[in-house]
Amino acid sequence: MKLFDLTGKVAVVTGGNGGIGLGMARGLAQAGAAVVVAARNAAKSAAAVAELEGFGVKSAFIALDVADPGSCRGLIAQVVERFDRLDILVNNAGMSIRKPPEAYELGEWLKVIDTNLNGVFVLCQAAHAPFKRQGGGKIINIGSMMSIFGGAYAAPYSTSKGGIVQLTKSLGTAWAKDNIQVNAVLPGWIDTELTRDARAQVKGLNERVLARTPAGRWGVPDDLSGVAVFLAGAASDFVTGAAIPVDGGYASEF
Ligand code: NDP
Repeated sequence: MKLFDLTGKVAVVTGGNGGIGLGMARGLAQAGAAVVVAARNAAKSAAAVAELEGFGVKSAFIALDVADPGSCRGLIAQVVERFDRLDILVNNAGMSIRKPPEAYELGEWLKVIDTNLNGVFVLCQAAHAPFKRQGGGKIINIGSMMSIFGGAYAAPYSTSKGGIVQLTKSLGTAWAKDNIQVNAVLPGWIDTELTRDARAQVKGLNERVLARTPAGRWGVPDDLSGVAVFLAGAASDFVTGAAIPVDGGYASEF
C-alpha cells in the first residue's frame, strides 16, 4: 500500500486560491493529485492553478460561491463530468465578520454561517454519491482554534467552526460503512489575508498570538500541506471523525 501517494486521485479544494487552501493544495499536488481550485476570484485562482500545474499535475479553476447551495452542487457535478471522478474534498473556504455579538445584523450572522458551515454540509452531501459509487472518498473540513475556544469578536465564526467539528463527527460515523473518511483540521494562528485583516482590526492580536503559541511563531500555509496529504491518502484509512489541531501547541497549553 502506498500510504502517501495520491497519483490518479482528483481533489477539490474550496478557497484553494490562497492562504491555507493553497498550502493544502500544494501538498496534494506534490503527492500526485489533480487539484480543482474552487473559489470566486478568477484571477487569483488562475495564478494558483498555474503554480499547482508546476508540480506536474492537472489543475483547473471552477467558480464557486460556497454560500450558494446551487453553486456547491454544480461544482461537484462539474468535477465529476470533467475529471470522471472525485476522491478528495477539502472544505476550506471561510470568512469572518468581527464585532461584538450584540452588534451583528441577522444578515451578517447568516452570511458567516452560510459560508463556513451550511456550504460545507451541502458540498459533503453532494460528494457522497460519487464517493459511494467509487467505493470511498476523503473529506477534510477546516475548523479553527475557535472550534474549541470562544471568540468575543467572532460569535458567528466560532459557532460555525464548532459546528464543523460536530458535522465532521456525524458524517464520519454515518459514512464509515461507505469507506468515506471525514476529518477536521483545526489550524492555529496562520499568517494569511484573513488574519492580516484580523491583526489590523484587533489591537494587540499579533503580540497575544506570539506570546500564547508554544512554538513562538505564526504558522504559514505550508504548515498545513502534510496533514492534508495524510488525511487524503491511504495512511488515514482508519482515521475518521477526528479533529486534528495544527497549531504549534496553542490548544494544548494551559
Ligand atoms: P483567506 O482569506 O486567505 O482565504 C479564504 C479563502 O476562502 C479564499 O480562497 C476565498 O477565495 C475563499 N472564499 C471565501 N468566501 C468564499 C465564498 N463565498 N465562496 C467560495 N470561496 C470563498 O483565509 P485563510 O486561508 O486564513 O482561511 C482558510 C480557512 O482556514 C478558513 O475556513 C478559515 O476560517 C480557516 N482558518 C484560518 C486560520 C488562520 O489563522 N488563518 C485559523 C483557523 C482556521 P475567493 O475570495 O476567491 O472566493
